[in-house]
Amino acid sequence: MTDVTFESLGVAEPILRALAAENYTIPTPIQTKAIPALLSGRDLLGIAQTGTGKTAAFGIPLLQKLSIGHVPPQPKQAKALILAPTRELAVQIEESLRTYGKFLNLKMTVILGGVNQNTQVKNMAKGVDILVATPGRLLDLVQQKFVRLDAVETFIVDEADRMLDMGFIRDVRKLVAFIPKKRQSMLFSATMPEDIAKLVHEMMNQPERIEVAPQGKTADRVEQKLYFVPMAQKRQLLSELLKDAAMNRVIVFTRTKHGANRVAEHLARTGVVAEAIHGNKSQNARQRALDMFKTGKARVLVATDIAARGIDVDNISHVVNFELPNEPESYVHRIGRTARAGGEGIAISFCDSSERTYLRDIERLTRMKIEPVAHDLPELTAEQKAQQEEPRRPHGHNRGGKPGGHKPHGGGHREAANADPHAPKKRNGSRAHWNRGRDKQRGTAA
Ligand code: AMP
Repeated sequence: MTDVTFESLGVAEPILRALAAENYTIPTPIQTKAIPALLSGRDLLGIAQTGTGKTAAFGIPLLQKLSIGHVPPQPKQAKALILAPTRELAVQIEESLRTYGKFLNLKMTVILGGVNQNTQVKNMAKGVDILVATPGRLLDLVQQKFVRLDAVETFIVDEADRMLDMGFIRDVRKLVAFIPKKRQSMLFSATMPEDIAKLVHEMMNQPERIEVAPQGKTADRVEQKLYFVPMAQKRQLLSELLKDAAMNRVIVFTRTKHGANRVAEHLARTGVVAEAIHGNKSQNARQRALDMFKTGKARVLVATDIAARGIDVDNISHVVNFELPNEPESYVHRIGRTARAGGEGIAISFCDSSERTYLRDIERLTRMKIEPVAHDLPELTAEQKAQQEEPRRPHGHNRGGKPGGHKPHGGGHREAANADPHAPKKRNGSRAHWNRGRDKQRGTAA
């Protein structure tokens, strides 16, 4: 096992050259196991999360298979289909495949929701070798007969568990029905809920099963810190911590879209360049935010779990859990952002008294106790105390007659009012608070 190289795994010359240009010298564990199995034509079930090198693990054999005896695709057809749960991940997969395949002459395109379909239809008109897509829009274009899946020879589902979380599994199943039975299939998932196991059984033929970095493993390489801090003081604590210049590339996670906006707005007011990324933003706005962060123009990216899935940014110095996730697996995903490709990093979590149960779940999953660190924030101000003590509205109150209504930009108004301690307390000053409670009950809305 000592001298494994991409060459010894059977990777062909033009791809080797592209990998060398990327400084990929040693295959990662999943690549070492997956590449030979896939080159031999087997189906593959990969239990792995992002950061393990799984994109190259399926991408390299795919490129190689398509380049051997290459026959140009027919109009509207794709020879390989890769499904990804989020737009960001889809774009990233295509970028990676272009990189690994830059010395091959293969056509690729991306189909995703949230943008006009015309360009996508045009890109498919002459057919492609590789199509990377999010399920909803693809199904739409297939039903409109702009895309045909009857020539797909390789079918890949990435981050299947997230597909399930986001409610895309039905669309995936519908798409499978359009793809020829005779094909090579791969499915990657960080976890194996029952519904995914069922899907695997339906769509694969005796797959080779490869499991790498079981859950909790990434956590070993990340220094984890915990602050017990009331919700009303979290923004203040974040600003204090950001005085440390070592926090130079930071992802801040919130549970909700509104929360992400509120934190980004707060940071902007304090002079920190921050971008928010979540599912309410247009695809272009999300890509712009991501580019700002990738190029270092924005020091902080505030994200919800779902929007952050698959974001591949190296050298993230810190992950801040502004709110703890209600699913403990998300904690492992989140903090793994700062220890990519074998690196190390720091994860800082803010825990309000209402989040203690989430903390317990996380510690149970990672089998690690996170030691709390003391902060030296002043006592709560009267206003913060009032905010802290406002009763949470029971679920259901917001249905129909919403107090104050649910306006997308409501959070911003509340922040503006709170920023000025002398501002008169508006009757609806607590509205965003109710909304926040509602967001929470909705779970991982992103
Ligand atoms: P992935 O899990 O596919 O999102 O990949 C995680 C990160 O590791 C990406 O930034 C890849 O560019 C990088 N990577 C993948 N394979 C290798 C390799 N063999 N050597 C070095 N970096 C790699």
